[in-house]
Amino acid sequence: MSLKTILPGSTSPTGQQITLGVMGGGQLGRMFVQAAQAMGYFTAVLDPDPASPAGLISHFHIQTPYDDEQGLAQLMQRCEAITTEFENVPSPALVTLGAHRPVAPSASCVAVAQDRIKEKAHFVQCAPVSGVFPAPYAAITTDALLAAVPAELLPGILKTARLGYDGKGQVRVSTREELAAAWASLNKVPCVLEKLMPLRGECSVIVARGADGQTVSFPVQKNTHHDGILAITEVYEGALDPTLAARAQASTVALADHLNYVGVLCVEYFLIDTAHGVDLIVNEMAPRPHNSGHYTQNACDISQFEAQVRTLAGLPLPTPRQHSPAIMVNLLGDLWFAPNAVREKVSERGVSPPWAQVLALPGTHLHLYGKLSARPGRKMGHLNITAPTVAEVRETAAKVLTLLGLPPLDA
Ligand code: ADP
Ligand code: MG
Repeated sequence: MSLKTILPGSTSPTGQQITLGVMGGGQLGRMFVQAAQAMGYFTAVLDPDPASPAGLISHFHIQTPYDDEQGLAQLMQRCEAITTEFENVPSPALVTLGAHRPVAPSASCVAVAQDRIKEKAHFVQCAPVSGVFPAPYAAITTDALLAAVPAELLPGILKTARLGYDGKGQVRVSTREELAAAWASLNKVPCVLEKLMPLRGECSVIVARGADGQTVSFPVQKNTHHDGILAITEVYEGALDPTLAARAQASTVALADHLNYVGVLCVEYFLIDTAHGVDLIVNEMAPRPHNSGHYTQNACDISQFEAQVRTLAGLPLPTPRQHSPAIMVNLLGDLWFAPNAVREKVSERGVSPPWAQVLALPGTHLHLYGKLSARPGRKMGHLNITAPTVAEVRETAAKVLTLLGLPPLDA
């Protein structure tokens, strides 16, 4: 069903509160729920986990598997329109929902983003318009394709086509023997082998596209990953070359247009050194708000989650304006076990990081996801840091990183 305007604060013809739904109850769903509720909508979450971060705070929480017919029927019965918060929602479930309710992004867009083989084909197809290519790659789905892999793709990274995130489902390989062993270790599921690129840096772009095709772009994020997981995002003048940032924005808009995408889309890029200077390579896309876009919550006049609500509800979509230089620090579960964790509250779940000291610094905004236990590598929350100037935001971030025992910012 196509999107129509769904104004907040009213009731449906059946007398029901106007409710927006989300498939998935993780932290991204939680922050969508928070943005929707702030604007007066009721919310419904479908997630089998009774303790899911979004389910815990939503008006309605349907606790069934994503492909459960009854669960999907309940969600449709409750909701005026439905979005998704992670790309591994089975796309047939979105097809079912989309037959009866507006769903954004659509099942077909999510299907492209959830399969690296389709995603890279989309990037290649769009390259004449987007102006940006993916890294050289080969799809590996059969022994014959494995044997035919060109030598120039090594050393490379073998990535499962589906279900990978935060560097999971990836193996670095240098030789054909390692490649064959790695594919066997991944049970020969469909994969892509990507050439290992000499990364100068990474960036990402978030756009929001309405059902009318109007697209707005957020400022481009500079990202630093540790062990394949996003660690830091920096967004301020001077963080990135403005020409490259503008190219990344234009490319992202072109990729969204080509899919006739509706909703919030994030595209990740690599910055690589070439003979002609630094160039862009498109890495992957996420059909939803993204960890690298969390800075928008405190540094922009519209957050990526509000943009998700606006696109889903068919509301106006003015260009978001960044009002403060921003640095986002991801808070992984490791911090709950770090030497700087606050010792008085020792429990088997680990101990709290020194929040009081962190929050004493000006412009620190803590976002915790309500996860009941910390594990190394688990995303527990993030900290947005804002300040009037670039020098001040970097200074505060440096203090925060020291307090948390994390590596310093790049120079
Ligand atoms: P995920 O779905 O886990 O985010 P990515 O493909 O984005 O998977 O890989 C995670 C990180 O691994 C990237 O942000 C980058 O730091 C590194 N990486 C991935 N592919 C390559 C590549 N071809 N060359 C160099 N580094 C890469
Ligand atoms: Mg990634």
